[in-house]
Amino acid sequence: MKNTKKTLILKPGRDRSVLARHPWIFSGAVDRVEGHPESGESVMVRDASGLALGWAAFSPVSSIRARMWNLNPDETVDRDYFEGRIRLAIERRQAVIAPGETDALRLVHAESDGLPGLVVDRYAEVLVVQILTAGAEFWREGIADALVKLTGVQTVVERSDVDVRQLEGLEPRTGLLRGQAPGSIEIRENGLRFMVDVLNGQKTGFYLDQRRNRQRVSELAAGREVLNCFCYTGGFSIYALAHGAKRVASVDSSAEALEMGQMHLTLNNLPADSAEWIEGDVFKVLRTMRDEGRSFDMVILDPPKFAPTAAQAERAARGYKDINLLGLKLLRPGGILATFSCSGGISAELFQKIVAGAALDAGVDARIVQALTQGPDHPVALAFPEGAYLKGLIVQV
Ligand code: SAH
Repeated sequence: MKNTKKTLILKPGRDRSVLARHPWIFSGAVDRVEGHPESGESVMVRDASGLALGWAAFSPVSSIRARMWNLNPDETVDRDYFEGRIRLAIERRQAVIAPGETDALRLVHAESDGLPGLVVDRYAEVLVVQILTAGAEFWREGIADALVKLTGVQTVVERSDVDVRQLEGLEPRTGLLRGQAPGSIEIRENGLRFMVDVLNGQKTGFYLDQRRNRQRVSELAAGREVLNCFCYTGGFSIYALAHGAKRVASVDSSAEALEMGQMHLTLNNLPADSAEWIEGDVFKVLRTMRDEGRSFDMVILDPPKFAPTAAQAERAARGYKDINLLGLKLLRPGGILATFSCSGGISAELFQKIVAGAALDAGVDARIVQALTQGPDHPVALAFPEGAYLKGLIVQV
């Protein structure tokens, strides 16, 4: 075993979080590293007394100095190990998502599936992989082979164009990992059709984490005039119209996303005159609408991450408050606000407080009728609460 000499020894008492199954080892917990492991290589993690705890991936540059692969010193971390972990992750999805619900879903959700730094989304017959950490980068080829073997899918695209790679000392990377370059891919979600551009779209191409929330929110949209803010390619808009919304106005800053949204109307046989597409900054568009005296029966707010970490929480909180205040003001009596935050730095509790503050300032009496979260293909390991990032509230005015 060539790895056994590469060792990370923890400071006294710092084995506690490892034993609690939390995968991250911060640099401050490390007493010393022996054997000169390279970036991403496996190291044996030992407590201060020398007791072996399990294997981790070494990240020399990151303040998260290592991420645990397992809590089993006798289990070798090799290609078979990744195949086994990915197989388990796929089987877990089969148990919680009925085949008719979607042909696009997250197969691997990083830490929450015991695979720190690895995200895999399936879009019909194409897989999209994000490799976020030095450890996942080290095993990149083995992971690609395992994915093809386990799913039978021939095309694997990499979308590792994310800022967090910098923290690991890794360059952004996009392109083809296996197979031939795909064009636009058609997916089918809850009976609705969407086109996904996995090479150029946002994230891995589509916001899969909102699938069940698109379904739930649109169930309340029948007969309503809807305003969908931060609409991307029109996910919530298409769902709302398919569920009988009277009209939907959709706002996004991306012209390409709006163009795809319009195309999704045709693809789903929905009347083009029931939809209005507005290119612009939501913060400004909402103010203009308020000044023009426009009103709606349902407002959806699904902004991008304003606060990736807790450090940016305060500024982000102001942004959330602003759009929620404006959104609530545009609602007619009896209206519904569906509001989301995907910021890891904003807790569910804080988000609810922000929305409550917005309602108070808007002078509306409102109640939460349902709290929402990410779909079951984006699970949250109980030992890794950081995995819970998406929170939503359905608020009735
Ligand atoms: N609800 C969408 C996903 C929204 S993602 C779905 O279900 O598919 C967030 C979107 O906000 C992106 O499409 C991005 O282009 C857009 N965006 C980011 N900042 C914006 C701003 N200030 N004004 C308008 N759109 C913005």
